[in-house]
Amino acid sequence: MEIFKVGSLYHIGVAVHNASHTAELYQRTLGLKIEHDETVLDQGVRAIMLLPESSGSTAIELLEPVVPDSSISKFLDKRGEGMHHVCYLVDDILIGIKSLKENNIEMIDHTPREGLNNTLVAFAHPKSLNGVLIELAQKI
Ligand code: ZN
Repeated sequence: MEIFKVGSLYHIGVAVHNASHTAELYQRTLGLKIEHDETVLDQGVRAIMLLPESSGSTAIELLEPVVPDSSISKFLDKRGEGMHHVCYLVDDILIGIKSLKENNIEMIDHTPREGLNNTLVAFAHPKSLNGVLIELAQKI
């Protein structure tokens, strides 16, 4: 069987209480620039993507809950602020989901859903991947 291969590391998701404050801090202290700022009501989050000025780098995705019972607010209640997930780009998210399932990886999303910044995304459960929540994203 051919091995499924992800593309580049697209972003690292970080759960925060206040994305604006964190973005301001990261701009002022790390020199990062805001690349994208979007609220996705479906996921109950506001997300701000930040990138260094040098091109080709992986982004940081700040995730702030905008509804009380979103998965991000539950994460913050349980673990506090910090690293939440890593996201890899894939050419074909349907093949990615199918391949992970065939390898007994438990998927949170069995079908792709709309992600940020014109992407389709699917999350794989951290208990199947040694404690790391992994997101697959396909640009559309
Ligand atoms: Zn993400």
